[in-house]
Amino acid sequence: MDKIVVTNPATLEKLAEVEIWDAPRVEDAVRRAARAFDSWHRTSFRERRRWLLRLKDEIIKRKREIAEVIVKENGKPFVEALAYDVMPVLEFLTYFAQRAEDLLRKELLDIGKWKFMRRESYLEFAPLGVVGVISPWNFPFSLSMGPIAQALMAGNTVVLKPSELTTLTGLKIADLFRDAGLPQDIVIVAPGDGRTGDALVRSSVRKIVFTGSTATGKKIMSLAGQDLKPVVMELGGKDPMILLKDAHLPTAIKAAVWGAYVNCGQVCCSVERLYVHKNIYKEVLDGVVAETNSLRQGNGMDPETDIGPLISERQLRIVESQVDEARKKGARILAGGERNRELKGWFYKPTVLTDVTPQMQAIRDETFGPTLPVIPFESEDEALSMANDSPYGLTASIWTANLARARELASRLEYGSVSINDHGVTYGIAQTPWGGWKQSGIGRTHGSIGIREMVEIRHVHTNRGFRMSNPMWFKYDRKKSEVVPAALDLLYGRGVRHRVKGLMQALRRASS
Ligand code: NAD
Repeated sequence: MDKIVVTNPATLEKLAEVEIWDAPRVEDAVRRAARAFDSWHRTSFRERRRWLLRLKDEIIKRKREIAEVIVKENGKPFVEALAYDVMPVLEFLTYFAQRAEDLLRKELLDIGKWKFMRRESYLEFAPLGVVGVISPWNFPFSLSMGPIAQALMAGNTVVLKPSELTTLTGLKIADLFRDAGLPQDIVIVAPGDGRTGDALVRSSVRKIVFTGSTATGKKIMSLAGQDLKPVVMELGGKDPMILLKDAHLPTAIKAAVWGAYVNCGQVCCSVERLYVHKNIYKEVLDGVVAETNSLRQGNGMDPETDIGPLISERQLRIVESQVDEARKKGARILAGGERNRELKGWFYKPTVLTDVTPQMQAIRDETFGPTLPVIPFESEDEALSMANDSPYGLTASIWTANLARARELASRLEYGSVSINDHGVTYGIAQTPWGGWKQSGIGRTHGSIGIREMVEIRHVHTNRGFRMSNPMWFKYDRKKSEVVPAALDLLYGRGVRHRVKGLMQALRRASS
C-alpha cells in the first residue's frame, strides 16, 4: 500500500505517514456515505442545524489544536491559520446552519399569462446524494469545510479527498465529526493523492466540488464529462489590484503587501499584479519595498512570524523560475528575489518586481508565491485593459476615494468578485458568492447561489383546470391549423392592433 509522507515545510521534519486510499476503498466510502444519505436527507433543517452547530462548538473548543496542525503541515503563521482557516469555517457553519432552510425554501414562479390558464409552478430543491469534495492545501480546513457545510445543510453526505500535502488537517476533520458525535458516515475523509481524487471522480458520487489548480480542474472536468457528472470548479487566479490616483495610499500600500504575501502568496486571490497610476507610482513603489523589507520570515508557530515557507520544493522552484525569467528579460528586483537560505525549509524571500512586461511568466501565469509585480498605468482604460488581459478571472480590486467611479470601472472588469478598497476578503463572507470567470472556474460557492450548487432543482407544475382537455392535443384538423396562427398573432403580435386582429380571427375561426 502506497503512503503519503507529510512533512513540515518550515523544518522539513517528517510529520506522519498515511496510507493512500485506492479506488476500491474510495468506492466503498461512497457506498457507506450513500447509506448515511438514506437517513440524513430525511432529517429536518432543524435537526441538521443542531448537528452543525454542535460541530461548530467542537471547533471553537479545539481551535488552537486545529490551527497548530495547519501551521505544522502548511507553514503559515498561527494567526493566519486561525483567522483565514478556522474563522471562515465557523462563519460558514453558523450561516448555513441558520439560513439554509430559507435559502432552499420552495419558490413559487411567476408564470405570466399561464397563470390565467389555471396553472401554477414552483421549484423545490432536492439533495443530490453523495457529493465528492476535492480540496487543496493552501487553506486546507476552510476549503474542505466550506463545501461540506453547504452540502450537509442541503441534505447531502460527503466524501472528502484532502490534499496529500495537508492530509493531517483532513484527518482532523474526520476526528471533529466523530468527537462531536455527528451521525456516522455523513462525511468520510479519503486520504490520498491525485490517484485517490481520480477514483473519487470516477466513483458513483453525484457531483464533484473541486478547489485546486486550473490544470487539474481541466482533467477532472473532462473525466466527469464522460458520464455528465456535474462539477463546481474553484480554480487558479492572477488577481489584479488597481490603485487610482486618489487612492488612500497608506492603506492601499499595506493592503497590497498583505494581499501579495499572506499565506506566503499561496492564495487563489493573491494580489499577483499591482497596477498603479503614474502620478503615485513612485510613492507606492517606495512604500511597498519598505513594507516588504520590514516583514519577518520564519516558522509559523513563532508569534512574530509574518511570512512562512512555501508548501513544497516544487512550489519554491516555480516561484524561483518565474522571478529568474523576469530578471533575465529585464525586470528589476527591488526586494527579495531569492531563497531565504538562513532558514531550513522552503523559504523564498518576499519579492517586489518592476519593469515587467505582459510576456513574462510572472505576469502571465499564476505564481502562487510571495511576489509583488508593480506596474504603472497612464489612464483608467489602460489599467482595465491590462487587468482583463488574463486567462484568469477570479477576483480584482479597485482602490479610490471616488466610489461611484470605482463601481463604473468594476462593471468593466472580467472577474467573479470585484472589491472596492479591499482585496480578497469576501471569501470569508458566507453570504457572498465566490467563483471565477474564464479559467478561474465554473459555478459558485457560498451564499444563496453557492448552496444551490448542492441541490437538484425540481420544477413542479400544476394544472388546476384538470377537467378540461387541452385543445392542442390530438386530433389536428383544418380548424386548428387556422386558429393557431391567429392565436400566435393574439399572443405575440406587435402592438394592440395586431393582437386585436389576431383575437378576432381566432374567434371567427374557432366558431366557423
Ligand atoms: P492541485 O490541482 O494540485 O490539487 C488540488 C487537489 O486535487 C488535491 O487534493 C490533489 O490531490 C487533487 N488532484 C490532483 N490530481 C488529481 C486528479 N487527476 N484527479 C482528481 N484529483 C486530483 O492544486 P493545489 O496545488 O493543491 O492548490 C493550488 C491551486 O488551487 C492554485 O491554482 C490555486 O489558485 C487554486 N485555488 C483556488 C481557489 C478558489 O477558490 N478558486 C482556492 C484555493 C486554491
